Amino acid sequence: RQGVGLRDNFLILQIMMAATALYAFPSLRHLPGWNTGGLAVAALLHVAATEPLFYAAHRGFHGAHLFARYHALHHSNKVPTPFTAGFATPLEHLVLGLLMALPLAGACAAGLGSVGLAFAYVLSFDFLRAMGHCNVELFPGGLFRSLPFLRYLIYTPTYHTIHHTGKKANFCLFMPLFDRLGGTLDPESWELQRKNRAGMDEAPDFVFLAHVVDVMQSMHVPFVMRTFASTPFAVRAFLLPLWPIALLFMFMVWAWSKTFIISYYHLRGKLHQIWAVPRYGFHYFLPFAKDGINDQIELAILRAERMGVKVVSLAALNKNEALNGGGTLFVNKHPDLRVRVVHGNTLTAAVILNEIPKGTTEVFMTGATSKLGRAIALYLCRKKIRVMMMTLSTERFQKIQKEAAAEDQQYLVQVTKFQSAEQCKTWIVGKWLSPREQRWASPGTHFHQFVVPPILGFRRDCTYGKLAAMRLPKDARGLGSCEFSLERGVVHACHAGGVVHFLEGYAHHEVGAIDVDRIDVVWEAALKHGIRPV
Ligand SMILES: [Zn+2]
Ligand SMILES: [Zn+2]
Repeated sequence: RQGVGLRDNFLILQIMMAATALYAFPSLRHLPGWNTGGLAVAALLHVAATEPLFYAAHRGFHGAHLFARYHALHHSNKVPTPFTAGFATPLEHLVLGLLMALPLAGACAAGLGSVGLAFAYVLSFDFLRAMGHCNVELFPGGLFRSLPFLRYLIYTPTYHTIHHTGKKANFCLFMPLFDRLGGTLDPESWELQRKNRAGMDEAPDFVFLAHVVDVMQSMHVPFVMRTFASTPFAVRAFLLPLWPIALLFMFMVWAWSKTFIISYYHLRGKLHQIWAVPRYGFHYFLPFAKDGINDQIELAILRAERMGVKVVSLAALNKNEALNGGGTLFVNKHPDLRVRVVHGNTLTAAVILNEIPKGTTEVFMTGATSKLGRAIALYLCRKKIRVMMMTLSTERFQKIQKEAAAEDQQYLVQVTKFQSAEQCKTWIVGKWLSPREQRWASPGTHFHQFVVPPILGFRRDCTYGKLAAMRLPKDARGLGSCEFSLERGVVHACHAGGVVHFLEGYAHHEVGAIDVDRIDVVWEAALKHGIRPV
């Protein structure tokens, strides 16, 4: 509680200082909106006075006497956050406030002050302080190698974190130049900066190409809120006021953005990244948006090709049959691709099939003629399990039935009404089910599902399976965020399918229809690599 108060104190202090200035110098009440000359004066004073004075004061605060009394508090946050910037004692805030006022006072004294300058300077100052404490490296890893002079002009989050942990170097405000002059510059600062940034800049070996689910879910990414992203996604109260802002971002992303990195982890020493196509779930249902989405996916695949990525796994709607034939479109258009394009659904089918209890003799399936439905039906009839395939299209049903061996065809049955499923306790749901349709199931039925979004569990006397997912191997490192509503370390089965494709070094593209013969092969390979069912 004391901590929260201390975090706000400096705001009150700064308002008091500004109010005092306005009171003492009435002319400040009539400043113009903007004056470029004033900016030059302030910049000069910042470099010539604020920076060196802060450096001197900060080193003073690290003296034995002052540190324990005044500065230990600021260093008490073992892991800095943007709020740590404002977490200090009143004396420190007073010193910082005065140093901040200097350039503004100078510009005003020269008759060049402006309202714009006051806002621009104070906000930039706060922004840079928060940036330095944010504990996420923001600057590109190669930047300070290609432009070495920048090392002395701007600090980085890594740079200030070194100060927080070691307390022996990197004392400057924003400009490492003064650490250089004072002999307190940690020479490892930029090497460490590059390493901290590594997961973002290195070329990955594996990419899971996702998309945004909806506006609410768009806030569930580590670069918006790390804490929130580190827990499974759920709609929370604090998201509601932010929703309009996220909506605005949706339009901006739709208009301008290209595929971007969401997160990454390491497995067996290789970098795996999750990229997002800048499209939201609902875009996939807009007929006019189809070409734009395929262009985005194609661009991402070609970028991965240039980077030397080995496998790109298409997530969720990015491999929609109607959109691009489960990835077939890209493979046909670019026959020379070295990167393997994978829909990962062979493993999805395997996960669903392995959830069906041994001894089951009959299942009922909706979405039965879809890509997954077809593969599941063909697999089950080989095991002499009767599959009631719910479809109104006899033509599509017969096409699948003919694929089965002659002696197994009798196990595939077309049904057109939910009544037929009344006695069957194993439902495999591949198409949205209304509460009304769910009412046909007898008590004790289990609903397995591969429908996106998952159906809502209306029946209290039945059980509902989750979307097919698998747990990554124990040696996966750096899993800081959750994949949608899944637990940390658990990924969608198609993601895991892509990982298996990469680990096994399969040479084929996994696009279009699922090869039923490969279901067991992929499942065994996943288990062999320590990828486990949830
Ligand atoms: Zn600090
Ligand atoms: Zn310090």
